[in-house]
Amino acid sequence: MSAPREGGCSCGAVRYRLESEPLVVHCCHCLNCQRQTGSAFVINLLIESDRVDLLADEPQPVDVPRDDGSRQRIFRCPSCEVAVFSEYGRPEVLFVRAGTLDDPSDVTPDVHIYTRSKVPWVTLPDGVPAFEEYYDSKQLWPAASLDRLRAAMSATDT
Ligand SMILES: [Zn+2]
Ligand SMILES: [Zn+2]
Repeated sequence: MSAPREGGCSCGAVRYRLESEPLVVHCCHCLNCQRQTGSAFVINLLIESDRVDLLADEPQPVDVPRDDGSRQRIFRCPSCEVAVFSEYGRPEVLFVRAGTLDDPSDVTPDVHIYTRSKVPWVTLPDGVPAFEEYYDSKQLWPAASLDRLRAAMSATDT
């Protein structure tokens, strides 16, 4: 990897640096993500939370209801309230919102998910895996990412 990726909120109170490449990059077309972002999809970099260095203020967790009745924790800047990360169930992996990177164009989705609710005017690129709902990470992720995920989960399971 070249220079480590950095990003932050709109006011600059929250700044972060990613210590490595992500495990995988999702483009999620689900209705929860559309509502939360006010856009057609969200782009998330999945990465071990201990590889996300906070350089300034701590983002504040907000538990947001999802359509399936579960809750998703979204981390927001305490001042401008821009959402920078979210967490789904397990705190070991953060979903970093690619639009908050200093250079969002540096990131390309590895997989498109929940395409059943994709807005019709978004055309998916040929050759990138796409799923109506979710997918089996064991079949899609590189072995190195699966190893990293296993290590992150077992570090807290013991
Ligand atoms: Zn801010
Ligand atoms: Zn989603």
